[in-house]
Amino acid sequence: MKPTRLKPLLTDWQWQARAACRGMDSSVFFSPPNERGTTRRRRERNARRICQSCAVRTPCARFALETAQPYGVWGGLTETEREAEHRQAG
Ligand code: SF4
Repeated sequence: MKPTRLKPLLTDWQWQARAACRGMDSSVFFSPPNERGTTRRRRERNARRICQSCAVRTPCARFALETAQPYGVWGGLTETEREAEHRQAG
């Protein structure tokens, strides 16, 4: 068999089995089109609250940053915060 740099997919996603958001509606973490202002801030605050108590917050945030997830709250970080992290990292 030829050597490969591919990793088993399960390794990358194993942390999700312990996610506090597992089974929740995705609308808690991902905004509907045109969501703005207070509604958006309230939804993001609620999502962050869930993330704060999540056992896999660190790998979740790392995954979102490493894969440049463009939407949603991941690991307690909003889209705007992840963009800022990417800009800082250059
Ligand atoms: S940190 Fe937040 S988004 Fe990530 S798995 Fe946990 S609850 Fe879900």
